Amino acid sequence: MTAKHSSDRLTALRARPHAEVLIIGGGINGLATFRELALQGIDVALVEQNDYVSGASAASSHMVHGGIRYLENGEFRLVREAVQERNRLIKNAPHYVKPLLTTIPIFSTFSGIITAPFRLLITHGRGKPRERGAVLIKIGLLIYDTFSRDGGQVPRHKFHGRSQSIRALPRLNGGVKYTASYYDASMHDPERLALDVLADGLTTGSGAGTGAEDATARAANYTALAGFTDGKAILRDTVTGDEFSFTARTIVNASGPWTDATNAALGRPTQYMGGTKGSHIVLDHPELLEATAGREIFFEHSDGRIVLIYPLKDRVLVGTTDIEAKADATNVCTDAEIDYFFDLVAHVFPTITIDRSHIVYTFSGVRPLPRHDDTLPGFVSRDYRIEHGWLGSVRTLSLVGGKWTTFRALAEHLADETLAFLGADRRNHTRTTPIGGGAGFPTGPAARKLWVAKQGSQHDRLTIEMLLDRYGTRASEVLAALPSDPTPIATHPDYFREELAFLARSEHVVHLDDLLLRRTSLAFRGGVTSETLTEVAAAVAADLGWDEHTQREEVERATATLRDAHRVTLGKPGVGG
Ligand SMILES: Cc1cc2nc3c(=O)[nH]c(=O)nc-3n(C[C@H](O)[C@H](O)[C@H](O)COP(=O)(O)OP(=O)(O)OC[C@H]3O[C@@H](n4cnc5c(N)ncnc54)[C@H](O)[C@@H]3O)c2cc1C
Repeated sequence: MTAKHSSDRLTALRARPHAEVLIIGGGINGLATFRELALQGIDVALVEQNDYVSGASAASSHMVHGGIRYLENGEFRLVREAVQERNRLIKNAPHYVKPLLTTIPIFSTFSGIITAPFRLLITHGRGKPRERGAVLIKIGLLIYDTFSRDGGQVPRHKFHGRSQSIRALPRLNGGVKYTASYYDASMHDPERLALDVLADGLTTGSGAGTGAEDATARAANYTALAGFTDGKAILRDTVTGDEFSFTARTIVNASGPWTDATNAALGRPTQYMGGTKGSHIVLDHPELLEATAGREIFFEHSDGRIVLIYPLKDRVLVGTTDIEAKADATNVCTDAEIDYFFDLVAHVFPTITIDRSHIVYTFSGVRPLPRHDDTLPGFVSRDYRIEHGWLGSVRTLSLVGGKWTTFRALAEHLADETLAFLGADRRNHTRTTPIGGGAGFPTGPAARKLWVAKQGSQHDRLTIEMLLDRYGTRASEVLAALPSDPTPIATHPDYFREELAFLARSEHVVHLDDLLLRRTSLAFRGGVTSETLTEVAAAVAADLGWDEHTQREEVERATATLRDAHRVTLGKPGVGG
């Protein structure tokens, strides 16, 4: 990735305040559209008001999935596209997207079989969800298999009776009648995958000359679209408050749950969006981790919501809720949501005890769903659409909806519509293009051994393998930045000070929390203390130009973010009641 310090974050945009396309929003969908257009040689700029991937894209359940439950809403187009994209991501981003065995525990045989077709055909999601029994789930999985199998590479689903189910998952609720198992995929590091997507775009459009203005793909975080006057977008540096004008032939509004707010700032208010809030908790609970047997347990809770318990990075992710919310609602996991999560774990694994002391992290966000009036949140379409408009002679495209899983296909659509307006041809397709550190990623043991051997003898095998798992083949860039004897962070010895300094100078890091929440898994896995924050701030200070005062400010800011948005109190395990 091209190096950019926080201080010169905006240099490239200010030096040449024009692009063919200006994208508002650095969530996965804005970033993927940026990459897609950069790969076509289009002069494209992206601005993100906070850090990249800090909106809805930071709140996902980490599933790359077709969305079997969307079948009952009749969303066959979306499910087909999503499973195709899932299969592509397993190949194009094998460093971050892996197949995942998913098991549905089922407690009844026929429930829901009568109500489901009515829900789909008549009630349009206005009735209360009912329990889905084995027959209904079987029908769903048969349809899912027909979409999903990737020429036979993805195994068909399997149904098991009670005794076989309990043998595979001994801690499962004894009332279980069947389990259904099938393959979907997980992304264990969505934030890093998104940063790879950004890096691909920046590298492609980095320009032949030496000046920042030569680049044809430029992106800046902590930069907001603040207004639109006399045919010019007003961009605001959200760190300093400085504003400047920027012109573009096309503006792509990819601001997720904030799409209507961005259109209002552009002077064209819309009412496209109607988000719902979802939260997750992360548990450090070896017994529960073991009970999942490495699978995602995906099931229906007593209120009809589909929820999950999911092993991730030696922790267990439990989610999620679906509550009507505005984009700027305070996105914090509430006590009521925590109680709901405990209840659902008790429903599936009744002999496992969990309490608030096991929670190491919580996160929450708003889904960018279309406005849905009286439709229940769980039944709102998860499909996306693109709305067209004009601001004088400037074409605008607003994205409404869009899941993580479908980001490439969605970006392809957005890019094609943009190319058509610009009269430009598509030069490259991205269906088989590897993403970031997925390029040349060794998938089998022999290839892995060879890749590790090629990195030379300056670093030990375990370090190389750890970084390969963390960054894919971009680990070679990180290794090149490490001395032969790198310094581990005292509280988290699997991260090195020099590694964090490399990330800080090469990945647009502005604040300490950018590193803790989105460049690394430090916050997600828990155990961060005030010593961790002080040490990480010191490790990156030289690269980010932070004096002692700024380091202290950054530690305070990160402490407040962890406390207020993620319910993490430094040095204290668990969250309070
Ligand atoms: C609880 C939950 C669970 C989910 N689970 C899954 C899952 O398992 N699998 C899956 O595929 N999908 C999942 N999703 C859906 C998925 O995460 C989102 O649909 C997707 O990330 C949306 O990405 P986006 O880029 O469109 O929006 P966002 O990620 O929200 O990005 C929009 C960005 O625009 C920025 N912005 C807003 N206004 C401005 C402005 N004026 N100027 C500059 N920038 C601006 C925001 O700061 C934000 O970063 C889940 C979502 C939630 C909330």
